Amino acid sequence: MYKIEFEGLDDWIQENNIGRVLVQVPLGLRPQIPLVVKYLKERNVEPIISTGKCWGACDLAYGEARAVGADGIIHLGHAKFTISEEIPTFYIECRIANPGPLLEMVDMVSEAIGKEKVVGIGATIQWIEHLDLFAEKLKERSITALTGKRGPRTPYRGQVIGCDYTCIWSIIDKVDCSLIIGSIFHGIGASLTTSKPVYVVDPELRKIREVNSEVEELLKRRYTWIELFKNSRRVGVLIGVKPGQRKIDSAIRMKNILEDRGKEVDFLTVDELNVDQLDNLPYDGYVNTACPRLSIEDQIKFRLPLLLPSEVLIACGKLKWENTIYSARYLIS
Ligand code: SF4
Repeated sequence: MYKIEFEGLDDWIQENNIGRVLVQVPLGLRPQIPLVVKYLKERNVEPIISTGKCWGACDLAYGEARAVGADGIIHLGHAKFTISEEIPTFYIECRIANPGPLLEMVDMVSEAIGKEKVVGIGATIQWIEHLDLFAEKLKERSITALTGKRGPRTPYRGQVIGCDYTCIWSIIDKVDCSLIIGSIFHGIGASLTTSKPVYVVDPELRKIREVNSEVEELLKRRYTWIELFKNSRRVGVLIGVKPGQRKIDSAIRMKNILEDRGKEVDFLTVDELNVDQLDNLPYDGYVNTACPRLSIEDQIKFRLPLLLPSEVLIACGKLKWENTIYSARYLIS
């Protein structure tokens, strides 16, 4: 189902003198490990498989690579993030080879959104190369598909990741609704940046689903957490240690703003954020400057508010709720 392309890998191995390499693989792609291992062993490169979950291209395991003396990292399933590399890194994006399951959904899409519509479309890296073909098929159903500009964290036009929906919100004034080819996770993320309808087209499940009512409920819960946060006396500001999640400037800005409001603030590091990790810490609330989706998807696991920087600005009266939700700045601030 996935294309595992090794083009360019031999040159990369030679140029970087790779004798040992750390291989990072997201959970869903782990069945591909033997293929990658075989390829490397045939070239006398020693692979070491990381057992980390590898959530995104933000999550480069430089520490693990150094710990095992690897000369480089091979990272599967994500496109290069716009961060500078501390260790040579080769990306194998693992795209879906067959556009069939996506194209078979064109009629379902047309039925769900209606004809004569203008839609913004975006896709995860796995489906990105079929985006233009999908747009052509929509055009045959009198649906005009547009794609906005590339985002700061996405190398491809039309690509979406959990924290970057620039290709959707940058053209939002021109469209009736948006279509995200991928999973519900990406649909919810896109829907946080626009109040217009967002549909998830999931070719693997053969389902199309509008996510706006779920996002409305989610935002009501976020509002409650913001209100609770206002009562926090001691606040922990989380700084991500994953290379693409280190936002020291944002953390310092949050600390300054909160201290001006009379709160006691400390910095804390976070790598994977597990359910018991915030236990027994002396804080009443947290600011999350690491992966924004921890606050969206994982808040329920924690008993205390875990606000995004944009939500802290709302709590402190520096942004208005109604101007922040359904805008690009909600996830990236
Ligand atoms: S959503 Fe989170 S895990 Fe995904 S790329 Fe962004 S920071 Fe990384």
